[in-house]
Amino acid sequence: MSLNIAIDGPAGAGKSTIAKLIAKKKNLIYVDTGAMYRAVALYILRQKTDLEDAEAIASVCREADITIRYEDGVQVVYLNGENVNAFLRTEEVGNTASKTSANPAVREHLLSLQRKLASENDCIMDGRDIGTVVLPDAQLKVFLTASSDVRAKRRYDELVAKGEAADFEKIKADIEQRDYQDMHREIAPLKQAVDARLVDTSDMSIEEVVDTICGLI
Ligand code: C5P
Repeated sequence: MSLNIAIDGPAGAGKSTIAKLIAKKKNLIYVDTGAMYRAVALYILRQKTDLEDAEAIASVCREADITIRYEDGVQVVYLNGENVNAFLRTEEVGNTASKTSANPAVREHLLSLQRKLASENDCIMDGRDIGTVVLPDAQLKVFLTASSDVRAKRRYDELVAKGEAADFEKIKADIEQRDYQDMHREIAPLKQAVDARLVDTSDMSIEEVVDTICGLI
């Protein structure tokens, strides 16, 4: 049986930064399920599908063939054969993914791919429903969180460092809206699994979080 570590938590809690570092340290592959939801959202945006039309989203998402490859240890997402990594990390795609991921057909479309990756590889997988739905038998589950102020400040600093325009209050409002949508959807809402360990990173350095989780492993 492969080693599976599940990391869930809200947007901006540091899941991907931490999971990548732990993957390297422990020789695991890092599975970023948010990127898969983002790739489906990108397809839906490109098709100009009405985001309020659940039936249209359900049918359009099935046309999005998502495959994952690991190139030099980095997860690369292919959407109908095209490497789309460069298009996934925009606010527009993230906010759209938060809406479209509430659609049951979108979740069903990605679930078997996620489970297959976990059954074939020792991995650390991050997302919103990994410990609760995707990998209920993961050997370690962590719920990583931080205050919305801290998470918004991290996003703000990231954008400023890239030389992009950033408005702290808007970023914070977007994060809080995404939290609300992710926590209140009917299917696979964001919540801490009963057997997950809670790690609040608000006042922790990256090294402290990595050490804490490595200790738990
Ligand atoms: O983690 P990331 O910000 O890339 O995720 C984008 C969106 O995809 C989230 O806001 C969430 O709505 C959705 N998502 C999800 N389940 C996951 C991973 C991401 O619903 N396992």
